[in-house]
Amino acid sequence: MDLANYIADIPDFPQEGILFRDITPLMANGEAFQEACCKLAEFAKKVGADVIVGPESRGFIFGCPVAYELGIGFVPVRKPGKLPRETVSVKYDLEYGSNELHMHKDGIQKGQKVLIIDDLLATGGTVKATIDIVRELGGDVVGCAFLIELEDLNGREMLKDVETLTLLKY
Ligand code: 5GP
Repeated sequence: MDLANYIADIPDFPQEGILFRDITPLMANGEAFQEACCKLAEFAKKVGADVIVGPESRGFIFGCPVAYELGIGFVPVRKPGKLPRETVSVKYDLEYGSNELHMHKDGIQKGQKVLIIDDLLATGGTVKATIDIVRELGGDVVGCAFLIELEDLNGREMLKDVETLTLLKY
């Protein structure tokens, strides 16, 4: 199955000049969604992850099924004001705009092997901020996995020291 058939290209979203890769057709197709999640789960087993971390909000969509499949935990990374308890945070730049990410202070235990999962790697700002938070809490980032990589935006530059899987490249 070619997963690329389930990604819709949306010009000028969310603002002019951005070609948005819409993953919702893939999510809506049971076989395609299952295949994508199975491939991410195989990678999670290979790198020996014992917890999955996913940034809001599309990181939840792919991260949670992988955690469920492996019988391990999922820890959310969220935008400001969403998590109810004490957090650690990092500011980061997006492909469009900037933001701040938070994780509960007790989200990761020292030495835990963390796989970060998100839908898409663009500039790498989001994943870099997520790595920084995990490391600040003493976690060991054993891998990063994405459905999609936008190669022109060089997000890989941020991930030189981390084993990385991307299922589709544009
Ligand atoms: P980065 O921080 O690597 O520049 O951007 C990646 C983040 O922005 C991911 O969390 C992803 O969900 C979101 N993102 C940026 N561009 C796109 C896009 O074209 N499609 C989707 N689905 N997400 C995007």
